[in-house]
Amino acid sequence: MAAKREKSFQFVVIGGGIAGVTCVEELFTQVPSADVALVTAGPHIKAVTNFRQVSRTVEEFDVEERPSRVLQEKFPALTVIHSAVKALHARDHSVETEDGGVFGYEKLCICSGGRPKLLIQDNPYVVGIRDTDSAQEFQKRLSKARRIVVVGNGGIALELVYEVEGCEVIWAVKDKAVGNTFFDAGAAQFLIPSLEAAKPQEAALCKRPRYTTEEPGGVQTFTADRNSHKHGGWTNPGSALGPDWHQGIVLRGAEQVTRRVSVEYQCEVEKICTPEELLPSAEQTLKPDTVGSWPVYIQLTNGKAFGCDVIVSAIGVVPNTHPFLPGNSFALAEDGGLQVNDHMLTSEPDVYAAGDVCTACWEASPLWHQMRLWTQARQMGCYAARCMAAGVLSKAVELDFCFELFSHQTRFFNYKVVLLGKFNAQGLGSDHELLVRCTKGREYVKVVLSGGRMVGAVLIGETDLEETFENLILNQMDLTPYGEELLNPNIDIEDYFD
Ligand code: FAD
Repeated sequence: MAAKREKSFQFVVIGGGIAGVTCVEELFTQVPSADVALVTAGPHIKAVTNFRQVSRTVEEFDVEERPSRVLQEKFPALTVIHSAVKALHARDHSVETEDGGVFGYEKLCICSGGRPKLLIQDNPYVVGIRDTDSAQEFQKRLSKARRIVVVGNGGIALELVYEVEGCEVIWAVKDKAVGNTFFDAGAAQFLIPSLEAAKPQEAALCKRPRYTTEEPGGVQTFTADRNSHKHGGWTNPGSALGPDWHQGIVLRGAEQVTRRVSVEYQCEVEKICTPEELLPSAEQTLKPDTVGSWPVYIQLTNGKAFGCDVIVSAIGVVPNTHPFLPGNSFALAEDGGLQVNDHMLTSEPDVYAAGDVCTACWEASPLWHQMRLWTQARQMGCYAARCMAAGVLSKAVELDFCFELFSHQTRFFNYKVVLLGKFNAQGLGSDHELLVRCTKGREYVKVVLSGGRMVGAVLIGETDLEETFENLILNQMDLTPYGEELLNPNIDIEDYFD
């Protein structure tokens, strides 16, 4: 039974990450007189700034971590409630917070993000990186480390292995190539030499956002964020980090080496154990001088074992759904996310969800798929707000154009990376062909064609091809007559299809 309500709002948004904050902003854009409450676990929110639409679907923006009063100053009608939601009473249209508050809503949007999947719970040597606090904790542990093992093959693992210096890194990936979440073996081959070379002294001009906390007298990068609140045996996380999360923190181990990365392919974690628990069979695969000299050991399914100081679990995130499930009947997707339809509505009436916490369960465009990235968190937050406001405004909303084509711009190993559509031929089976152009150390261009039409592309380096390829993917022009000429470096393709 829900307790007595303190106050009721027209709209309540849970979560001060990119999805939640964008949702709040768009609600006020749609309904300037809206009565909105943002309930968030910590004092800071993530603000999207300098938004730039690079092309029809590719976007670029900065993200700053700011005190929530910045949002209140912008929207005086906004109420910010600094407490974690501990229960949702969907039938009763109310949420209960950790500090005992009960708030009613007409429409609710859950934007509570995700938390790192950990290889093993409660092992002091295993860390996951998700928010400012966990990044700082990792930095502290790394500063005393001689060797770390990174497990995972997504964006966080990719960035970590490139950034960490002064420490040996063993990188365990379950695939045949690194970076499998984002690209294929060819692109991985292109990037691997960057791991073997020293990092450029002057970092390339950082076009991507940095996370900062505004301090009186200036903006300080990565000051401590108080977003973590322990309760009920789990840690309520701050907002997820994002691109360039490592800018401004020194990722340096205890050794003099610049970078030493070795990759263990096609393996998973068999066991994580103390020196005493190490099996004699695993001991045989260790260098004799390392037996017993590490605080933790990791055994991999390829038969190898390594001793190390820290194990980084970078195997993805689990949607943060647990406070909302008891007593309600949410339909959950296989990945544990709240299922949302093409109006970002969950299976509970008047409850919407956006960002990492939700799973898109509408019939997606053949060129779009969900990935838990901050671009999609922003797009979903914005679209959810439009859907929530539609009822008040009595107007119909159509699925936003951004869900037509998957697009993501980022940086890996200091290269600009643009991914478009089915960039890894996802879901195409053998029904596709690939065209590749590669100039070592400069660019890697891959185009995915299906039935003679472009359906995806991977662009690494300053290729300047994103807009042209985006158009070719969107207009589904038959490219059969052009064949391999499509990637002929001597043809100005932009001019050609102008
Ligand atoms: P979050 O940003 O996680 O925000 C969730 C919010 O909900 C937080 O404010 C939290 O305090 C609040 N909250 C949680 N539970 C409750 C509760 N019970 N009650 C109240 N409030 C609650 N994406 C990219 O696109 N490119 C990248 O290069 C990239 N790199 C990344 C690197 C790292 C290290 C990490 C961790 C993530 C990275 N991501 C990247 C992913 C990206 O950061 C996320 O997809 C995105 O931030 C998700 O936004 P969100 O608003 O859904 O969730």
